[in-house]
Amino acid sequence: MKVHGRCHCGEIAYEADVDPSRSGICHCTDCQMLSGSAYRVSVIADRDAFTITRGHPKTYVKTAESGNKRVHAFCSNCGTPVYSCALQDPAIYALRVGCLDQRAELAPKRQIWCASAVPWSSNITSIETFDRQ
Ligand SMILES: [Zn+2]
Ligand SMILES: [Zn+2]
Repeated sequence: MKVHGRCHCGEIAYEADVDPSRSGICHCTDCQMLSGSAYRVSVIADRDAFTITRGHPKTYVKTAESGNKRVHAFCSNCGTPVYSCALQDPAIYALRVGCLDQRAELAPKRQIWCASAVPWSSNITSIETFDRQ
């Protein structure tokens, strides 16, 4: 599936070819903190299928508890997270689904790091809803 992404302010834009079956949720505490949300949804793009068409994301290298380092790219102007990848010679990029125009079609297919999921994240259907604020 061809996808188009951009940061909130528009300084950064990108496109990719992704396999929708590789859309997933991560419940790790780093994703909770770096996304500012309960969990993060990402879809994988192979290196050759991902192109930044505008701007230059700033990068932050995160060191996990395991010692693994991972690059997190974001817009230095608006802070929108764009992708994460390996520190050296990345073969794949994890694109942040919320920044993609096609996000409605990228329903996650698996959840990882469920041991650290916030307990209420798995059932929000019973919460009162409004079409707008
Ligand atoms: Zn931006
Ligand atoms: Zn994570």
